[in-house]
Formats: sequence, structure tokens, C-alpha cells
Amino acid sequence: MHNMKKQALISCSDKSGVVEFAKALTELGYHILSTGGTAKLIAQAGIPVQEVADYTGFPEMLDGRVKTLNPKIHAGILARRPVAEHMEALKQFEIDPIDIVAVNLYPFEQAIANPNCTFENAIENIDIGGPTMIRAAAKNHESVTVIVSPGDYRKVIEEIKEKGNVSPETRLELAKKVFVHTAHYDAMISNYLTSMKGNDVSTRTKFPESLTRQWVKVQDMRYGENPHQEAAFYRERNVAPGLLAGYHQLHGKELSYNNIADSDAAWEAVRSFDSPACVIIKHANPCGAAIGMNSEEAYTKAFKCDPTSAFGGIIAFNCEVSKETAEKIAKQFAEVIIAPEFSQGALDILLQKKNLRLLTVAMGHARNDLDMKRIGGGLLVQTPDTQCVSEKDLKVVTKLAPTSAQISDMMFAWKIAKFIKSNTIVFVRDGMTLGVGAGQMSRVDSARIASIKAKEAGLSLEGSVAASDAFFPFRDGLDVIIDAGATAVIQPGGSIRDEEVIAAANERGITMVFTGERHFRH
Ligand code: 5GP
Repeated sequence: MHNMKKQALISCSDKSGVVEFAKALTELGYHILSTGGTAKLIAQAGIPVQEVADYTGFPEMLDGRVKTLNPKIHAGILARRPVAEHMEALKQFEIDPIDIVAVNLYPFEQAIANPNCTFENAIENIDIGGPTMIRAAAKNHESVTVIVSPGDYRKVIEEIKEKGNVSPETRLELAKKVFVHTAHYDAMISNYLTSMKGNDVSTRTKFPESLTRQWVKVQDMRYGENPHQEAAFYRERNVAPGLLAGYHQLHGKELSYNNIADSDAAWEAVRSFDSPACVIIKHANPCGAAIGMNSEEAYTKAFKCDPTSAFGGIIAFNCEVSKETAEKIAKQFAEVIIAPEFSQGALDILLQKKNLRLLTVAMGHARNDLDMKRIGGGLLVQTPDTQCVSEKDLKVVTKLAPTSAQISDMMFAWKIAKFIKSNTIVFVRDGMTLGVGAGQMSRVDSARIASIKAKEAGLSLEGSVAASDAFFPFRDGLDVIIDAGATAVIQPGGSIRDEEVIAAANERGITMVFTGERHFRH
């Protein structure tokens, strides 16, 4: 019995900081209990440590499946110190209370991330004793300090040094982390197991039987889409840093619900271009998009498409924002600007704008998370629409073939059409949108609206290119586009009236290509 001394149990797969932590605890008078690998490391550093096996009288057995699963450990953790009967029971069975539990779990996530991980290997990476200990310690946070993250060792040591003990507030905070940690751990295991047929890892799908995902709150919001709705923003655990949920806000007021939704639309659209690009979003739709030599040219062109709607818009770039660009943006009212980088000259100008929010988001990291849409009482889940044809996949269906300039514009139009709500018709020339028709129930109306918008912005559609996100069911939509001045059209094809539509294009002397892929967006 060491019951005059306080006890800490350390059993960690991630051994970073363990030796320093054990050393500091020893200096503070703690007796250290530990499991095989962890104990070895601590002992090698010359720190006194007792193996759990030696303390319980049971060796680690069954290939490490049973190490700490023993009443001497679990009663030591779970005994309520203020309850006399509990402490009496410990004495009766010669069990010492355990005051600190520092455990992190077998790396299940890393194990299954390896494409060569077999089913057996995954199963062996399910930690049993670890979750049992940390759940017990978290339940008894009234008396026990539990640490699952090496980042918390220092705080615990400092509190003990300062106050002789860990405060009840810290113990509760650490206990909360445990249940976030174990919930995530079990979610990964259940997603893994229910995503395959039987035990055949090669049959794993993206759609497990039940979706047990973990969401971490980023912030509460003042309100939701409308002021009478309450809202918060969550990011998916372990989200890739290049996605909007991993943004860094440099400046400005807190983002609102609509700001975030529109910023996401802007970012996803702009990052799909290879050359410097700018996309301006209003109410989830691009009201201007362009590519150029640099941020300034891209912005100038994008803004021209619809200056009226760009007021209060969200502006995204896939390149550094220059001083010259910032000078131009400063003349309009924008809600949010997003870019991978801002030059110092741009910051000097933009940081003066009190109501402007500036976000940086790292480039890279394609989206591979699932798309989800809430419906009454359920969830629609699909893989994201990350596909996009390349030039060589285009099929020319008219007598007239497109010029290389038309092909470039068709590719630009097709890429941006993906990010416009259906039905989509978009006119493009010289790498800029000229008119956007979005979200109409009829494709003909989208075509009409796109041409009206171009006219209002003072832009000519003569010799432009047009993209349609889905096929033309009749020739009427195509006629509206050609009447407006377009001479090249890109669309998926696949209608039962394709022949009629192709004949119309030939009759009117334009060129048309099929992509074979549709991009509805609702
Ligand atoms: P070590 O490297 O110290 O030998 O093992 C540390 C790991 O073992 C930790 O991740 C801890 O959660 C886990 N562990 C501790 N006790 C048990 C147990 O009784 N059964 C299983 N399966 N894992 C345990």
C-alpha cells in the first residue's frame, strides 16, 4: 500500500510529453502506475514507476487486450472520496485511490487511414481498457483528474504546483473532453464497421448504415438566415485546413449565418480555377466571376458583370490580393473578402474598413466530404459534385467547330455554371461572366434573365459563349440564347430531343458542344 501518496496512472499510445509529465508528477510527490510500453519509457528516463501488472497481481494478457481491466484499477478510479463507505471498501480490499488518469487511445483513425489496413488489424486497434479508464475517471471528476490530450499536461502540473490540487472547474472541463473524445472514437469504429459488407474491407462504402459523425462548435451566431431564427456554426471534426470551415478571420465583425453560407459558395467556386480568379457571390449565386492575369484584372472583370448586385457581396480570390485590387474594392461595399493571402498594401487599405470581414483560407485540399441536406425528419447524403470535364472530353455536335478562344470560354462558363443554382444559363466572353440567369423554374426564363442582366450592365452578348447546367428539353431556350447574341453553347446533352436542338444550332449557324455531365445545384 502506498496510500499516503497520491497516485497517477499513465497509459498512452501517443507518448509525446509523457516522460516530462511523469517527472513533474514524481517531483510533486505522486506515485506513478503505468502499463507496458509507457512504463518502460518512464523507467528508462530514470523515473520511479510501478507496472500495473505488478500492482494488480495480474500480468498483461491476451496480447495486451487485458492490461488495466481490474477492480484494483477501476475501484481506485471510481471511488467517491467524500463517501466514507467507498473509502472503507477500498481499504478492505487494499486498493489505493487513483487521483490522476492520463490515457490516450490506440490510434484507430490512423490505422484505418492506411489503405493496407486489414480487418483484423483494425479490430486490434479498438482500445478497450483505455476508454473504460477515461470514462470512469471522467464520471468521477469530482475526485479524479483525467487527461486525454498531451496538450493538457502542463496546465495540470501548473495548477498542482500553484494550489496543491487541480481545481474542480478544470477537472470538469477535462471530463467533458473525455466524452467528446470517446464519442468520436466510437463514431469512427461504427462508421468503419457499418461501411462494409461483412468483414470485407474492399466493400467499404462512403455511406455506412448509420452516420455517426462528430461536429465541433465554431461559434454561436447572433441569428440564423433570418433574425427570428437561432443558429450556430459547427465544423466537422478533423476537417482539412483548406476548406472554409478552417478559415482564419483577419479583420471585421463576427461572421453571420448568411456570410458563412455565401463565403463557402464563393470559396468553393473560386478555388476551382487554376488561373487567378475572382468570384462575387450574392445570396449563394455568383453575380460575377472572371479569370485574369492577376487579382486586379479578375476583380475588375467580375465586378463589371453586375455592379448593382455586387453591392454587399462576398468576394473571393484564389490568389494574393494586391494593393491595386484593394483600392478598387474599397470603392464598393462588400461584406466579406476571402483569399489565400493579402499583400501588405492591400491590408493597409482594407483594415481601415470597419464593417468588412477579411478571411484567409489555405489553398489546396479538395473537398471529399459528403454533401448533406436536411429534410423534414431526415438527411439526404451524396458525394460532392467535384467532377468537371476537361477540354478533351468535349464532343462537338454541330457542323461548325468551336475556335480555341471559344473553347477556353466554354470551359470557363462550364466551371462557373456548376456553382450557379439551377436552372442555370450563363453568358461568358474573354474569361468573364456577362450575364447570369439563376434559380429559375424554367430554363427559358433563366436564358431571358441572363440576357436582360447583361444588357442592364451595358455588356454586349454578340459573339459570346453560353453554358447551360442541364440539357435543353426543347429548342426554345437555345433560341433565346442565340437571339441574345451567343455563337457557341456548352451543355450536357442527353435530351430525347437532342436532334431537334442540334438541328436548331446548325440552322442558326452556331457551334455547340456536349459535356456528357450535368451540374444541377439546388
Ligand atoms: P502501452 O504502450 O503503455 O503498453 O499501452 C498503452 C495503451 O494501452 C493506451 O492506448 C491505453 O488506452 C491502452 N490500454 C490500457 N489498458 C488496456 C486494456 O486493459 N485493454 C486494452 N485493449 N487496452 C488498454
